[in-house]
Amino acid sequence: MDYFLTEDQQMIKDLAREITEEKVLPVRAELDEKEEFPWEIMKTLAQSDFFGLYIPEEYGGMGKGGFELSLVIEELSRGCLGVSTTYAANALGTYPVLLYGSEEQKKKYLPDIASGKRLVAFGLTEANAGSDAAGVRTTAKPDGSEYVLNGTKQWITNGGEAEIYTVIAMTDKSKGARGASAFIVEKGTPGFSFGKKENKLGIRASATRELVFENCRIPKENLISKEGMGFIVAMKTLDKSRTGVGAQGVGVAQGAFEAAAGYAKERQQFGQPVISFQAIQHMLADMATQIEAARALVYSVAKYIDSAAKEVSKESAMAKLFATDVAMKVTVDAIQVMGGSGYMREYPVEKMMRDAKILQIYEGTNQIQRNIIGQVLIKETAKKR
Ligand SMILES: Cc1cc2nc3c(=O)[nH]c(=O)nc-3n(C[C@H](O)[C@H](O)[C@H](O)COP(=O)(O)OP(=O)(O)OC[C@H]3O[C@@H](n4cnc5c(N)ncnc54)[C@H](O)[C@@H]3O)c2cc1C
Repeated sequence: MDYFLTEDQQMIKDLAREITEEKVLPVRAELDEKEEFPWEIMKTLAQSDFFGLYIPEEYGGMGKGGFELSLVIEELSRGCLGVSTTYAANALGTYPVLLYGSEEQKKKYLPDIASGKRLVAFGLTEANAGSDAAGVRTTAKPDGSEYVLNGTKQWITNGGEAEIYTVIAMTDKSKGARGASAFIVEKGTPGFSFGKKENKLGIRASATRELVFENCRIPKENLISKEGMGFIVAMKTLDKSRTGVGAQGVGVAQGAFEAAAGYAKERQQFGQPVISFQAIQHMLADMATQIEAARALVYSVAKYIDSAAKEVSKESAMAKLFATDVAMKVTVDAIQVMGGSGYMREYPVEKMMRDAKILQIYEGTNQIQRNIIGQVLIKETAKKR
């Protein structure tokens, strides 16, 4: 379908597709097999200015929005979700600085992020704080001109590879979620180390590690916004970035659909291509319809968020929920369309199915997305009465 992209947006999408075709497709199986971090592809994305896409021009970026970012994420995801997760998690880690950082922090960090010189990661989750993000136990105690961080973050994308970390820690445990604060921590700070790389079902090219803080001292200037704002910084960050996860869903579903449709045209059974069977056509028809619906929702929500709308939790949760459920269904169905071949590693769809599962889990599980939508609906219903 034509989404009437501007000339710039079409150029961005085309370039992202070209990079995916030339640099991602040839190596995706190997990156997956070897669990190799896609540094070469990140360098290509940096050369294409894609790390600065959504960062204002005054800080070295291209001054575009989350919509353009979603276009790039979608195209990369069509090739490899491990690669697109690495790229998208960079934006996730950057949003706290972009949305709530001081002018000094923006000047100090955003140019290096925009150029792709330094990768970023976002550290919220802990062993006891998953869906219940307010259960963070990592502490940040003020001490003179510094904060002292202690605790462990779990399953952090780009952990160990990134240079800059935006981290949520408790400055006042007695206040619950209102006692959380957001910080910038740089790799190499004494007392900051990493756990082992996690061995995962999918998105194996992306690196997932623990962040370990042991009496890690950071300057007070690294506090983002004010003490007590950490939970709000985290939630507003996730509101912004969740359409990116939706775009990942659209991209991986599109990739799986193309592989399955192409195969069904070639594969002969009972003297005819399997695509001639109505059972297969109906599966492909459902897949194509679901993908288009997901894309339309993700694009509209990304544009809505870029329009500086203030309350976007419901819409971004809807985009993430719908598109990632579509991704799971479509990647499973793509294997069915391809029969036994779909199950084999020579074809890309088994990887796509393994990869797609994470989309229903990270940045808030799809149960949590439904909770968010439900909570906003209750508020909206109350207002209208
Ligand atoms: C590969 C990977 C990468 C990740 N990257 C990052 C990252 O970069 N930064 C970061 O901070 N975190 C990251 N995470 C963490 C991720 O966001 C959490 O795993 C996710 O939020 C779910 O938390 P949990 O795994 O502890 O599940 P749990 O919270 O233990 O949930 C278990 C089950 O209970 C359900 N559940 C829990 N509470 C409710 C409720 N109130 N209502 C209904 N159902 C509920 C969940 O939906 C789920 O099905 C990553 C995780 C993975 C696996």
